[in-house]
Amino acid sequence: MSEQFLSTSIEFLKGVGPKRATVLAQELDIRTYRDLLLYYPFRYIDRTKFYKISEIHEDLPYVQIVGEITYLEETGDCFKKRLVAIFKDETGSIELLWFKGVKFIKSKLIIGEKYVAFAKPTSFRNKLNLVHPDLETLVEYKNAINSTLQPVYHATEKLSRNALASKNISKLTRNLLPQVKGKISENISDYLRAEYKLLSREQAIFNIHYPKNTEWLEHAIRRLKFEELFFIQLNLLKLKQVKLSKSIGYQFSAIGDYVNQFYSEKLPFELTEAQKRVIREIRKDLGSGKQLNRLLQGDVGSGKTIVAIMSMLIALDNGFQACIMAPTEILATQHYESVKELLTSLGVEFALLTGSSKTKERKIIHEKLEDGSLQILIGTHALLEDKVKFKNLGLAVIDEQHRFGVAQRAKLWKKNTHPPHVLIMTATPIPRTLAMTLYGDLDVSVIDELPPGRKDIQTLHWYENKRLRLFGFLEQEIAKGRQIYIVYPLIEESEKLDYANLEEGYQHIFNRFPAPKYKVSIVHGKMKPEVKAFEMNRFINGETDIMVSTTVIEVGVNVPNASVMVIESAERFGLSQLHQLRGRVGRGAEQSYCILMTGNKLSADGRLRMKTMTATNDGFQIAEVDLKLRGPGDLQGTQQSGTPINLKLTNLSTDGEMIALARTAAAKVLASDSDLSLPEHRVIIDYIKENQRGKINWSKIS
Ligand code: ADP
Ligand code: MG
Repeated sequence: MSEQFLSTSIEFLKGVGPKRATVLAQELDIRTYRDLLLYYPFRYIDRTKFYKISEIHEDLPYVQIVGEITYLEETGDCFKKRLVAIFKDETGSIELLWFKGVKFIKSKLIIGEKYVAFAKPTSFRNKLNLVHPDLETLVEYKNAINSTLQPVYHATEKLSRNALASKNISKLTRNLLPQVKGKISENISDYLRAEYKLLSREQAIFNIHYPKNTEWLEHAIRRLKFEELFFIQLNLLKLKQVKLSKSIGYQFSAIGDYVNQFYSEKLPFELTEAQKRVIREIRKDLGSGKQLNRLLQGDVGSGKTIVAIMSMLIALDNGFQACIMAPTEILATQHYESVKELLTSLGVEFALLTGSSKTKERKIIHEKLEDGSLQILIGTHALLEDKVKFKNLGLAVIDEQHRFGVAQRAKLWKKNTHPPHVLIMTATPIPRTLAMTLYGDLDVSVIDELPPGRKDIQTLHWYENKRLRLFGFLEQEIAKGRQIYIVYPLIEESEKLDYANLEEGYQHIFNRFPAPKYKVSIVHGKMKPEVKAFEMNRFINGETDIMVSTTVIEVGVNVPNASVMVIESAERFGLSQLHQLRGRVGRGAEQSYCILMTGNKLSADGRLRMKTMTATNDGFQIAEVDLKLRGPGDLQGTQQSGTPINLKLTNLSTDGEMIALARTAAAKVLASDSDLSLPEHRVIIDYIKENQRGKINWSKIS
């Protein structure tokens, strides 16, 4: 079988042998012919481009010139030989230098012959030269079937030492390609290839290593990108299908008194269209008999809490309990306060459980949970303890999901015979492309609209020279009765430094805003939780004017009267974090401000971050820029997705269209043939069986 040939050990390829085979395996995980074929170049050198010698300067990555050798000399002593050649074209001359193989090279070179020289220009003793250039005669160059785009492969130092630098690797692929002709099986059905205008797999692999020209190269990359994404999407969509078919969920078919009464009498405001849509989506899932597994994304302040509360009421109407878990005690308490305000008059039984709940309270909570009289439990990680047993948990809401690990979430699932419905909420806007690749197996709902009447937060970027003006401005705002956040960065490597930073800043603020006229709170990571909560609550209750803190206030805190967010050393924060911090203000009816204070020296990235912040309040736009600046691995909330992103060709920030295309194609395939048993899908299933062992067992799925 053809694929079997591709499994041949790389050792047997001409030019490899046992020693290099070991190095290839260690350094690049290349063990077989197939591995080498799938080791793509990362860029190409255009060998159609010729430079004139007069155009050459040191900053060029490489040059290719035509000319002749007019002079050749061996210099140095017997220990340190050197070969120098003068190479001329009609515009000037340049030195070619060799330090190794001097005798041999000298014997080959012919004065007066036309050569093509190719190398990176360097300077040596203040003279431009080409060291160890690739040299072939013009005749050889013209005769070579050589592709005009020369592939460049990543190579490590160890590889280079073992004669496996980019150039050597390209020689190996050149040896291999003719042997595998006709042996690379197709893995995308013909009808899909025709529909999406894709090269065959063999054409694509040949052309990614040795492109005939740029056009072929583009087609090759497009085809292989599609393939890369198509199989990811096929897996994700299949996973989702399997989950759905297996996951029996409690069916919440009734909408009863709780929801109806709440909606008609207790709702404190008109829901936004986005909130209504999301609630409809959730309700549909809850009524379907399948387990709800939904990610609810909504920018800070978009009103996710009310959605959570109404979803929980649906559970209650169907005779089930519900819970909401938040990452910090302060957040859990705020949810508790919301529930208290909104649901007390409906006669709903609820309680708060956190690390600081007293033993006696805990006992009562445990009992009432088990006998079912407690309907809603709000809390922190404390909810996950084994002692917390529900009579009948129907819905678990997880707020600010990126603060929880996968294992913690899984624990909630075990709190009932069937897993309860799970609603995951996040304020970290994940760009669509990323969500599709990472969370393709979850359903995603988005609240893409803020409640009406919000004034856009005005964001300003100020340098240190505006500090006096800043303090004057803060004074005015406090005089109007507003409250202010001042946030200092926290850098993990040097907590001490930050603490000093914070202390110093605090002293400064304290001197400028002295007691008793002004009241200042301070919160930082080194405080005991009780002290922290005490200080935080003073601010929440309006007892202090200024909250000086590190980023501990980042998540979810809701103080509508706070209207100014000052971020010190703002250049030290990432974009998402800046946006999260800004989201702490603009929650009331007042005009709010976010002031980014930075030093004068900003990196290009730093400047772009400040510019983005002052230009837009839209979390999704900010996430897009963040993704471009940092790459997906660093984005908050992507680490625990469970889907390893191993993309060779796709760029998540620029290939959105291709991702969507591949997803559409995968969905269409599954819709027509969910177990890929039709003959036209044979190539797809064969490839999956061959290459994706262990990921999903397609054969057991029917
Ligand atoms: P987040 O999505 O960040 O968790 P919250 O649920 O805390 O946002 O809501 C932020 C604020 O907006 C709260 O004070 C809440 O009462 C208010 N709010 C939510 N939805 C609406 C709405 N439809 N109309 C007016 N105010 C709303
Ligand atoms: Mg919230």
